Amino acid sequence: MQMFLTTIGFFALTGFFIWRHLQAGGASAGGASVRASGPPCARCSAPVPSGSQFCPGCGIPQQIFEVVSAGISAPMSADGTGGAMRALVRADMCVGCATCVAACPEDGALTMRGKLAVVDNALCKGHGDCVAACPVGAISVNAGSAANRVQVPLIDVNFETNVPGVYIVGELGGRGLIKNAINEGKIAAEHVARVLPPGEPRSDGDDTTVDVAIVGSGPAGLSAGLEAHRRHLRYVVLEQGTLADTVRKYPRHKLLLAEPVSIPLYGDLWIADASKETLLEVWQTIVANTGLDVQAGQKVVNIQRDGSLFRLQTDKATYTARRVVLAMGRRGTPRKLGVAGEELDKVFYDIVEMEAFAGRRVMVVGGGDSAVESALGLANQQGTEVLLSYRGDALSRVKDRNVEKFERAIAAGKVKALFKSQIREIREDVVVIDIDGDKTILPNDHVFVRIGGEAPYAFLERLGIEIVTKDVPIGGDSARAG
Ligand SMILES: Cc1cc2nc3c(=O)[nH]c(=O)nc-3n(C[C@H](O)[C@H](O)[C@H](O)COP(=O)(O)OP(=O)(O)OC[C@H]3O[C@@H](n4cnc5c(N)ncnc54)[C@H](O)[C@@H]3O)c2cc1C
Repeated sequence: MQMFLTTIGFFALTGFFIWRHLQAGGASAGGASVRASGPPCARCSAPVPSGSQFCPGCGIPQQIFEVVSAGISAPMSADGTGGAMRALVRADMCVGCATCVAACPEDGALTMRGKLAVVDNALCKGHGDCVAACPVGAISVNAGSAANRVQVPLIDVNFETNVPGVYIVGELGGRGLIKNAINEGKIAAEHVARVLPPGEPRSDGDDTTVDVAIVGSGPAGLSAGLEAHRRHLRYVVLEQGTLADTVRKYPRHKLLLAEPVSIPLYGDLWIADASKETLLEVWQTIVANTGLDVQAGQKVVNIQRDGSLFRLQTDKATYTARRVVLAMGRRGTPRKLGVAGEELDKVFYDIVEMEAFAGRRVMVVGGGDSAVESALGLANQQGTEVLLSYRGDALSRVKDRNVEKFERAIAAGKVKALFKSQIREIREDVVVIDIDGDKTILPNDHVFVRIGGEAPYAFLERLGIEIVTKDVPIGGDSARAG
């Protein structure tokens, strides 16, 4: 009985939140009834009053279609024909490290406003040094329009690519933020369920064929998986690391932006001021309660078309699927060191939120541009001790500009370089390292491994997915600052 009441209570509460969420959308749309109508909702075709953030019909935030509906543009000419070249900082990607400010040759053209790099358009000459220096790819230089120029896979309003049956959702499709990833994953799985009713005879009569294989278990893959589960599709979620690996690798206790979002089989999730640990706990609980099938530790290395089906090859097994949802994020597959302790929370493959490492003892591993730029960015943080470990005896294939800056940082005592060195083990508060054949133990709070990896777009191109250049209008999540 108690169980029954709890269940009723849960559904009532969830229903209430969803109703409120839709009302909020409707309210912003409703208030606009006197306004002119904009283009219809890409998902349900209901008329959406211009300026409305939500569709009054289905409640979906219209912002998620921004990249999809932006026109394809010709690749930019080197001389910037079409307007003055200016830097553009994406507010949703900038991690506030100030590396770009140090890289910019024009005094005052780039400054920090809190955690955001800000461009003064009157001073910016579009050199592009900031683009090369930014460790997270948050800056582009374009020809003066109020748009952010991005390279993205070609997708339609259901997030299906030019390869029929293959969908791309989340950050891989070009939009940042957890709420967008969750919404897109849900829409793609809904579409799969619509075009592929459960129970339809399988073309090869093979029982092991799933309706949909989902690659990646970040917010986008998780949401696609939950929607597939809810709609009784046969599915599998394949994850190269552990559940929600990108979020797991945020800095410890990172607070998330305040965003309400509705998760399939769960209801509204408010992640306002929640820490990443809380969010992961919620997701783990959802996976446990729903029995979502996530095959962790399986990296998808190849996908091939086989008639009307797809064969997905992981490093452990082969899967056959009728549809594929790619929710792999944009970070690709970083190369690993393969040493004991690499799985510790203190090890990162991306540099994020550099200011979180102020006053810490950090080691950056690698000898290329990304390692050097990361080391320089970290050295800009107040009181951070930076060691760069590289197995070669000098930096190789690094831009001259970076070599000069690195040498200046070493001369100023901001960075120390350990050439001919190799990490052997990572422990909670030290690293064990060979330096020119001598085993040494160094105190350490964080390790950043920057030794390359496979970019996700190489994977997409192999599959025949078209990558296009788009000018995405500057909206809430991206900003031409200054
Ligand atoms: C430091 C930091 C802070 C952020 N803070 C916020 C915030 O406060 N609020 C917010 O809304 N957003 C924030 N973001 C952005 C947010 O994390 C992303 O937009 C979101 O995670 C994108 O979700 P996704 O599912 O598309 O990709 P991801 O979360 O990147 O997930 C992709 C998954 O696919 C897996 N994968 C990749 N390749 C393969 C393969 N070949 N085979 C199998 N699995 C594979 C990866 O291991 C990963 O688990 C932040 C990002 C960072 C880096």
